[in-house]
Amino acid sequence: MKFADFVIAETLESARAELKRLGPSGMPVAGGTCFQYLSDRPDITAVDISRIGLRGIRHEGNDFHIGANTTLTDMVRYQAEGWVLGEIATLIPTHQIRNISTAAGNIARLFPWSELPLGLLVLDGTVTVQNDHTRSLSAREFFAARAAKSLEPGDLITRITVNAVTPPTGFGYRKENVTNSAFALVSAAAALTIRDGTITRARVAVGSALPVPTPLPALEQALEGAPADAASFSKPVAEAAAEVRWKGREGMSDEYAARIAPIIISDALEEALRRAQGDEA
Ligand SMILES: Cc1cc2nc3c(=O)[nH]c(=O)nc-3n(C[C@H](O)[C@H](O)[C@H](O)COP(=O)(O)OP(=O)(O)OC[C@H]3O[C@@H](n4cnc5c(N)ncnc54)[C@H](O)[C@@H]3O)c2cc1C
Repeated sequence: MKFADFVIAETLESARAELKRLGPSGMPVAGGTCFQYLSDRPDITAVDISRIGLRGIRHEGNDFHIGANTTLTDMVRYQAEGWVLGEIATLIPTHQIRNISTAAGNIARLFPWSELPLGLLVLDGTVTVQNDHTRSLSAREFFAARAAKSLEPGDLITRITVNAVTPPTGFGYRKENVTNSAFALVSAAAALTIRDGTITRARVAVGSALPVPTPLPALEQALEGAPADAASFSKPVAEAAAEVRWKGREGMSDEYAARIAPIIISDALEEALRRAQGDEA
């Protein structure tokens, strides 16, 4: 995508003021990696927000607060008990992209292959947006509103928050790709909470073989109340997968995507179950 002009902002306030002034002809740029996938808009001025701070991860109580400009590499390197988003970030190709792509950039404009949204959808994520006020939206509301389309000029994501995940809750993430640097064919994230041998809470989201990362509420409902046993997964996963219109990518057919999707979802659920039961990843 070609830009008409480029402005470097030094503070959140100046970035927001510039974007408000530009209106629909302004666009925030963080890592700048998505623009090769957008068609040319020679009327657009890019407002570089990479120097306005908002970088780093803070652990507070049961939450991790991730600054908008935190890079995927920062997320891979960060370590704390219950921190699992780094497990998704480390699988996003490549080193070079992880070094510059930011947390907010990965969730603000959704592509079929966007991976952090899957984590946010299963970890009760919230997204904080700064406009003239500060508003926090649950990840499910945020993604349902197709963020890049719903944010007004001057609105900036400043922070993402996710839960720490420790037993009796477990997290699992799986993706299938042809090569390490390829987009995933199917990706799935799951979080399960178990008590007294029963799944009490289930969160599942899938991506890549769909237009955007998508939660599977019918599967979540079917799993809640089921025995905490991998044998409980196959029927509800098969039923939920049969309701989805899978889209083949990277040269693979729709039928192939439909075949592997239930396997990838089950793998993510099995990992989440093992970890909910106290097994390490
Ligand atoms: C070759 C290649 C392969 C890739 N493969 C994958 C993959 O397999 N999985 C995956 O998850 N990602 C992948 N990515 C990365 C992904 O497609 C995005 O390009 C990236 O996550 C965007 O992050 P960024 O910081 O570069 O954001 P930018 O490209 O700078 O911005 C992305 C969008 O977010 C907006 N934006 C940025 N920051 C904010 C903010 N704070 N508030 C509001 N809006 C904001 C921008 O205006 C823009 O619309 C790949 C990228 C490339 C180039």
